This record gives sequence, structure tokens and C-alpha cells, in this order.
Amino acid sequence: MEAACRLAFVEIIDLIADGYGNIDVACPECGPSRRSPANQRRKTLRIWREESDFARYYCVRCEVKGYARRDDGCAPIDLTQVARLRSDAAARNADREEEQHRKANRLWRSARPAQGTIVQTYLIARGTTALFP
Ligand SMILES: [Zn+2]
Repeated sequence: MEAACRLAFVEIIDLIADGYGNIDVACPECGPSRRSPANQRRKTLRIWREESDFARYYCVRCEVKGYARRDDGCAPIDLTQVARLRSDAAARNADREEEQHRKANRLWRSARPAQGTIVQTYLIARGTTALFP
């Protein structure tokens, strides 16, 4: 079977519970052959689903990779569509990164000295001997 067809679209949709975005799940290709239950369930397969009829996947453990379309077709994909999807994903990632920076700045600005707070009590209870800001 061609690499792009290893996982059927319906199987991918089942794995991600019809979700969208970047989703990590247990790999159905290599997970079941693992001895330990934790490794069987380890989320090594990343699925990228940006639109309702198309998803890509890659497993960091067994390196199975490919894509699937709702029609389960395995014909070469439209490179223009791939470029558009990558562009859309880059824009979403840029928005997400900007939001994370705003959140980090907001948290940093709201920080207060630990001296005399429950944080100091906690850190002392954990054995911290450092000076508190
Ligand atoms: Zn795998």
C-alpha cells in the first residue's frame, strides 16, 4: 500500500473524534505492538486536520506518514491546495503565537513579589532557601 494510504480518512476521523487542528493520538500502526500499556497509549501520531475533507499525519515512533481525504482517494494531492493549507496554517500559528506573547506579557506585568505571601510559605515548606524577590 502506498504510504499516503496507510490510514483511511474514516480511521483518522475516529482517532481525533472529528476534531480540527493539530491533534496527537496513540498510533494505530505501532501502538498495539508495544509491550507496556503506557507505550500502547502514548500519543506519537500527530494528525493535522485543517478542513473537513482532508487530514495529514505523522508518527514520530514508526514514521508512518501520509494524508487522507474523505473520498479515501490516494491520487497525488493538489499542490496548490497544499500551499494554501500551509499558508492558512502559518497564519493561524502566527495568530496563536501573538496571543501567547500577549498572555505572557500580561502574566509578567501582573506578577507581584513573593515576600509575605502564600507563595513564600509554600516555597519554604518545599525547602527553598533562596531569597524572595
Ligand atoms: Zn506509529
